[in-house]
Amino acid sequence: MNVENIIKDIEGVVFEANKDLTKFSTMRLKSVGDLLTVGSISGLKLCLKALAENSIEYRVLGMGANQLLTETSNIPYIKLALPFDKSYLSEVRDTYLLPASVTLSILSSHAVRNGLRGWEAFTGIPATLGGAIFMNAGTNLGEIGPLVTRVFTITKEGEEKIHTMNEDSFSYRKQNFLENGEFIYQVEMKHLGIDPSVSKQIKEYLELRNRTQPLKEWTCGCVFKNSKHKRTCLAGKFIDIMGLKGLTYNGMRISPKHANFMENTDSSSHKDVVALINIIKDELLLQYGVEFETEVKL
Ligand SMILES: Cc1cc2nc3c(=O)[nH]c(=O)nc-3n(C[C@H](O)[C@H](O)[C@H](O)COP(=O)(O)OP(=O)(O)OC[C@H]3O[C@@H](n4cnc5c(N)ncnc54)[C@H](O)[C@@H]3O)c2cc1C
Repeated sequence: MNVENIIKDIEGVVFEANKDLTKFSTMRLKSVGDLLTVGSISGLKLCLKALAENSIEYRVLGMGANQLLTETSNIPYIKLALPFDKSYLSEVRDTYLLPASVTLSILSSHAVRNGLRGWEAFTGIPATLGGAIFMNAGTNLGEIGPLVTRVFTITKEGEEKIHTMNEDSFSYRKQNFLENGEFIYQVEMKHLGIDPSVSKQIKEYLELRNRTQPLKEWTCGCVFKNSKHKRTCLAGKFIDIMGLKGLTYNGMRISPKHANFMENTDSSSHKDVVALINIIKDELLLQYGVEFETEVKL
């Protein structure tokens, strides 16, 4: 049975076949695929259950800020679009219960307005809350992990689960509690108190990012992780020292502004990014004998 027939009677789920997904990733890679947009938790549950009963795999799509979408895909993408009433953020709360599809920029605005300590950690990161937790997104100011208290998910069999966070729940750019295919639909978050200086800190950090990162280009953020070398040997620094800034392969360019970013300058596709990543990896190994793991999901 095909996906369209399987989910056709499920309320709150919209199926689009062969959709142009180019705009569904921040790198704007040429991409076409089947898309399921899910607007309710009950719809998500039924949808995952129905797909599991028919042994159909799926990919979870957040804002696509850390995923390289392939040019075509036989596996459907599922995107969560839960309703969110922004008036929920009109007051400061001790804990927040938020849909996973809410964007971090909305949360950052709330943090700037109210000086929420801890929330400066995710300043300027383009992401849905679900994607940010999956990646334990963070900056030099911290990571989102320590702000999360509970994560509500649906397993790929369609069962609800609640994960209570502990000190092992997150590590550098990853979470350690989700099983394969498990879908985050809701998140409980805290802050670490009120501190008016946080607003200034967030604004200054945004200015710094604007100066040092190619935020006007189509990118997926940092391509390589820095962790293996304890962040003192930044991947971008190595790429810069090797003189690779500006190197372009089929329209995919190593950013002249920040060497750990790649810019899609001319409707490039997945294979072009992978080719450029492999060129960099080969050079890193040849010239310095170092290997960096990719941060972006290939
Ligand atoms: C300009 C730019 C700057 C960036 N700067 C930073 C930075 O400073 N720090 C940083 O950490 N990252 C940065 N990134 C990378 C990116 O923003 C983060 O990795 C972010 O967390 C990705 O979130 P997303 O919603 O786009 O997830 P996606 O990229 O869509 O998905 C990422 C992974 O999460 C999974 N996922 C997404 N939503 C869910 C869900 N609801 N349930 C279960 N799994 C899910 C996906 O399947 C995928 O495996 C940057 C990216 C860009 C384009």
